[in-house]
Amino acid sequence: MYLVVQGQLDMEGALTARDRVGIQDFVLLDETTETAFLSNLKKRFSEDLIYTYIGTLLVSVNPYKELDIYNKKQMDLYMGVNFFELPPHIYALADNAYHTMLTEFNNHFILISGESGAGKTEASKKILQYYAVSCPSTTLLDTVRDKMLMSNPVLEAFGNAKTLKNDNSSRFGKYMDIQFDSQGDAVGGHILNYLLEKSRVVHQNHGERNFHIFYQLVQGGEEDLLHQLGLERDCQHYNYLTQGECAIVSSINDKNDWKTVKNALNVINIDETDINHLFEIIASVLHLGNFHFESNSKGQAILNSNAELRWFSSLLGVNAETLRKGLTFRWIEVKKDEVLSPFTTDHAIYARDALAKAVYGRTFTWLVNKINESMENTNSTRKTVIGLLDIYGFEVFNLNSFEQFCINYCNEKLQQLFIQLTLKSEQEEYEAENIEWEPVQFFNNKIICDLVEERHRGIISILDEECLRPGDATDLTFLERLEEKMGSHPHFVTHRLADKMTRKTLERGDFRLLHYAGEVTYCVVGFLDKNNDLLYRNIKDVSLHVSYGIVATQFKSSLLKLTEILMAKEAWYVRCLKSNESKQPGKFDEALIRHQVKYLGLMEHLRVRRAGFAYRRRYDVFLQRYKPLCPATWPHWRGEPADGVEVLVQHLGYLPHEYKMGRTKIFIRHARTLFATEDAFERCK
Ligand code: ADP
Ligand code: MG
Repeated sequence: MYLVVQGQLDMEGALTARDRVGIQDFVLLDETTETAFLSNLKKRFSEDLIYTYIGTLLVSVNPYKELDIYNKKQMDLYMGVNFFELPPHIYALADNAYHTMLTEFNNHFILISGESGAGKTEASKKILQYYAVSCPSTTLLDTVRDKMLMSNPVLEAFGNAKTLKNDNSSRFGKYMDIQFDSQGDAVGGHILNYLLEKSRVVHQNHGERNFHIFYQLVQGGEEDLLHQLGLERDCQHYNYLTQGECAIVSSINDKNDWKTVKNALNVINIDETDINHLFEIIASVLHLGNFHFESNSKGQAILNSNAELRWFSSLLGVNAETLRKGLTFRWIEVKKDEVLSPFTTDHAIYARDALAKAVYGRTFTWLVNKINESMENTNSTRKTVIGLLDIYGFEVFNLNSFEQFCINYCNEKLQQLFIQLTLKSEQEEYEAENIEWEPVQFFNNKIICDLVEERHRGIISILDEECLRPGDATDLTFLERLEEKMGSHPHFVTHRLADKMTRKTLERGDFRLLHYAGEVTYCVVGFLDKNNDLLYRNIKDVSLHVSYGIVATQFKSSLLKLTEILMAKEAWYVRCLKSNESKQPGKFDEALIRHQVKYLGLMEHLRVRRAGFAYRRRYDVFLQRYKPLCPATWPHWRGEPADGVEVLVQHLGYLPHEYKMGRTKIFIRHARTLFATEDAFERCK
């Protein structure tokens, strides 16, 4: 048996290796300063070693270039191998979670976090691929794996878009359970999706695109299909595709992606009729975006796009005249009579866009349901799961709106979960082992979560109240309420206080939150509408049954549910770092990375791992490895392993403060103590 100490394998010549490639587990660093941390990360990054551990947490730095480390050969290499025996890898983490699940028969989840463009989605895909390729298989189940793998390109086509941060940015949150049977076969999957950024359908900022599927269809769709959908092969023709002025992106091949998506739709068993409907809906949204309204002499909106109207109604099967009325008049019921009150063009455009968002949003939900049906495991034997959480990362743009508010709130919650779980599990282990320990100081972002979500007092509650308040509620009255109630909160800055506190001015209409990951200025324009997510009543009557829900509150409760799902599982962490803002291969922007290391709490995590104890080893394991170092334990120790370990470490000269004897394990405070022991072991071999 070859047991390996966590961290460096080769102690002889370790110095040279360490100098060149750095240390593969931060717990082994001599110093826990940020500088030492960064220099290790940089050293490794320059050697294309993008992964480093902090204990069992995996830190990953986006290389922005293809590395030859994700292939079947590498997968085989990592399969079933002890976590620390090979260089850090996402496969090692995936494998370790998998084997722990099999031996302990419990549920796990892998939380992948980091800001937009840091590599979360890529990491989650690599993990999924690892399970799909490496787990034992029976022919029957191959189809389940294929479906799981193919759910990715489909969901990415409909839920990802080019943003300023990332050419393939996930605009929805995704939690996927991979279900395994007791043999370790992947037998099924289930996806929960969160808060698709529907506003992107009708509006894109400069340098950004709509969801990929629109461009794929227009550029890749077969002649017949486009003809049948009334589409032209020209993105410039469609208002919903051109606002960002970057319909064509060099890093994206829409034509090829179209083929991939079509194939994937087949693999996940969506039938031809449904696939056709799907594209009819996508096309109808494009036609809808080209609806043009003019104002008549009385300032009333007139719909001037007969061709588009015809296409839209025939593709979706709705009555054209009802739709025209719906988009240009408000229907009010007065004493059982219907009265038509004409819209201005602004209102009409608003109604048009609301309809487009609703149609797209519902289609996305439908698609996720279809994928779930197809991955569903009908076999009822007991299963365990590994959950993969890949949620949009923390986001700061020049202009931040309701969407960023929700996304960043979500990231606060996940950070809170991380804090709770890492500190909690560490504390629990010390408690279980009867070890005393001093808690490490860290910034607890609970205060920010409360600021956003507290009942009756938090920002979401205040927003809901404004949305429900009859009369004159506007985005600005919402802001006034916020300022009244939050004015003195240490993480909330109003435009009045901004100058004094941060010396950065805020526009009237903005508020700023000091998030755990940095400060973000939000513009309140659109908050009420987006939170309401209402269609005008008559639009709803035309074609859709949209549930009236208040968005931020729904999101809050779905996050709560997610937290509960995760809390019941054993956690593994991948912390993704963005190496630079310009998506350049191999560029290590030290300031940018330092900032992420700071707010992701990596230093605190490392300190907890160490100030705690850098190492813990079961008595029998420790004794088995080091017993040759002491005459009293070599070749056999006849008593309790714990007593043998005590004799052994006394012989090695461990000082009392350097270690603690727990119930089942020895805890060693510093890496160097173990290093010395390991050195001695290597010499005596
Ligand atoms: P996120 O989901 O965190 O926003 P992505 O996973 O979409 O970020 O990654 C953004 C881009 O960075 C990818 O499209 C890819 O070009 C690059 N990238 C991320 N991770 C890796 C990796 N491990 N190897 C190579 N390139 C990567
Ligand atoms: Mg992503």
